[in-house]
Amino acid sequence: MVPVDVRRALYLEPVEREGDARGLLVRPVRTSHQCRQDHLMQLAEMNSLGSLRDLLRSYKASFSSLMVLSDDELQRFFEGKLTLRSRNSKSVPSLKAWGLGLQGRICLVCMDEEMVVPQYFNYPLSLICPIHETVLLDVCDGCDSSILYTRKHRLRCGRCQRDFRESTPIPAADWAKEFRRRFSPGKELGFCSVKSHSDLAIARLLLWYQSAGGNRSRYNYPHLSVRHHPWLERVAYMADHLIEQVLEEFRNESPKRLDNLIAWTRCPTPVNSIIQGLLGNSV
Ligand SMILES: [Zn+2]
Ligand SMILES: [Zn+2]
Repeated sequence: MVPVDVRRALYLEPVEREGDARGLLVRPVRTSHQCRQDHLMQLAEMNSLGSLRDLLRSYKASFSSLMVLSDDELQRFFEGKLTLRSRNSKSVPSLKAWGLGLQGRICLVCMDEEMVVPQYFNYPLSLICPIHETVLLDVCDGCDSSILYTRKHRLRCGRCQRDFRESTPIPAADWAKEFRRRFSPGKELGFCSVKSHSDLAIARLLLWYQSAGGNRSRYNYPHLSVRHHPWLERVAYMADHLIEQVLEEFRNESPKRLDNLIAWTRCPTPVNSIIQGLLGNSV
């Protein structure tokens, strides 16, 4: 599920140990495209352990360590047969780069049908559910608070307890489809580090561009929200020559980040082609 480089980046190393009998009573199998965060929430809920945070507390595990285990290793972890050694305690922010953070997005139709949350939803540029073509929410439509994987019930807001199955889904607007076509066409539901990196690089670039004159260095792990939609609607129809201008400006102001941008935008999207065409051969 998780590419090896995530572990390397987080300095996590699985270590076998003697098992003890503290396995979970209910162990729903993760479906192939379900994200680990959603699976852990399901495990916590079905075993009446409270929230994901309570699950981590009961098993004395860090969030990042459970995110990078394979499914088999996770099973052995819950049986007490495996532990993880970590040399890095500040790993949660960097997990966001692979779509493995705590900030979630939900599709209200998926919720209504009690479907699992795919990894795809966690990538920075995912705005639409590819199955239902509806807007993904990252904030509650009742109380406007962030939708986090640490909420207690998968189908309810963690703050106002609104049942998401009672909310009305919003069909994706044409601009959002155009944004997906140009910036992030990947519909794949499984884990794909190429796509997550490409999304990360473009989200960084877009937020950098939006905050001209402001603090442009703070977008290491960007998250695009429904709050950004009015602006993203304009971005979706941005002319190619304007994107080239943004790139020129970026090249001048942030030369250190250029290598990442070039390396990470190899996923073939219309906008990535512009980036590769303009910058790919220039360094
Ligand atoms: Zn959906
Ligand atoms: Zn709420």
